[in-house]
Amino acid sequence: MIIRLSRCNLACVGCDVPHTWDWSRFDPRLHSRRFSVDELASWALGSSAQLVVITGGEPLLQQPQLVPLVRCLANAGRWVEIETNGTCAPEPALTVVTDLFVVSPRLANAGARLVPAQRINPAALEAFVACGQAVFAFAVRDHSELDEIAELEQQFALAPIWVMPAGTAATTVLAELSWLAEAAVLRGWHVSTRLQSLLRGGPASQ
Ligand code: SF4
Repeated sequence: MIIRLSRCNLACVGCDVPHTWDWSRFDPRLHSRRFSVDELASWALGSSAQLVVITGGEPLLQQPQLVPLVRCLANAGRWVEIETNGTCAPEPALTVVTDLFVVSPRLANAGARLVPAQRINPAALEAFVACGQAVFAFAVRDHSELDEIAELEQQFALAPIWVMPAGTAATTVLAELSWLAEAAVLRGWHVSTRLQSLLRGGPASQ
């Protein structure tokens, strides 16, 4: 089960979920709904799904509300993962109830509007590493980004690292996988096939 929270603190070029934050193109009244924590927990627990992925947008913008939500799901036996862009440090109250953080720091090509200080928050990345419950995932567009990921790996001791082809079209993902897998293995990283893209597909231009 996926819970997708609205709003984001970044504005990446090529974002595949702009309806969560880009109000110049999407009407928030049509693309978001307000739920209380109790309503959302009750809805999620109505499903038999044992894995709950909370994503966004940037879910940690709503961290005070996430704590009781995740605690409720965890108490009911659900495995809870939170996907984040890594710019907001997780509070201890959130780390104790969350099973896994999937942290995806945005690389330089995320957009000219994003300066490094917006994309990379050293204190937040250090907090994710220190909590011991995080993996670091990067969608890769070209070879040059591998060195950028390696710099982040070295600077913040990021581990484990997962890389995957950028894009949502199955043809794009499959075409990029061969070179990326080989390069990643040489660096000791894990490779994701971006299964959701292979199953769901997407416009070839993305
Ligand atoms: S951080 Fe994620 S959700 Fe936010 S703009 Fe970038 S790609 Fe989109």
